[in-house]
Amino acid sequence: MPEDCVQRIIMVGKKSLPSVLTRGMEIDVNSAIFTEDDWRIPIINSLQYPTLPSEKRVRIMALNCLMWNGDLVRKSKDEVFMRCLGKKEYMKVMGETHEGICGAHQGGRKMCWLIRRYGYFWSTMMKDCIDYSKGCEAC
Ligand SMILES: [Zn+2]
Repeated sequence: MPEDCVQRIIMVGKKSLPSVLTRGMEIDVNSAIFTEDDWRIPIINSLQYPTLPSEKRVRIMALNCLMWNGDLVRKSKDEVFMRCLGKKEYMKVMGETHEGICGAHQGGRKMCWLIRRYGYFWSTMMKDCIDYSKGCEAC
């Protein structure tokens, strides 16, 4: 070996467990119900038909999204996959986060952070969480 070469040891690991799907584990995925004014529809259309014209804003959002089991999933900055929710679902999630089983009447920004940690996403989540916490009568 030439003298100017640096020798490095590369660790090679093998993952022995098969994927979650082949192990037969249950995944809590409900097929999404889309209404006409759903914010997810333009993104899904952009993913399914990338050659069709769409808004630049939609194309940029679609870069971080993928379809999984009929649901729209978004990848966060720290590589966590978050399920994209429609309005009926995210209203329920905000209610549970603020005053339900995991709720301690947090402020909007903390709520938004928590909901992302739980693995949910929607396009206007920061604004909606702040509005929700401001509108809480118990707070
Ligand atoms: Zn409250």
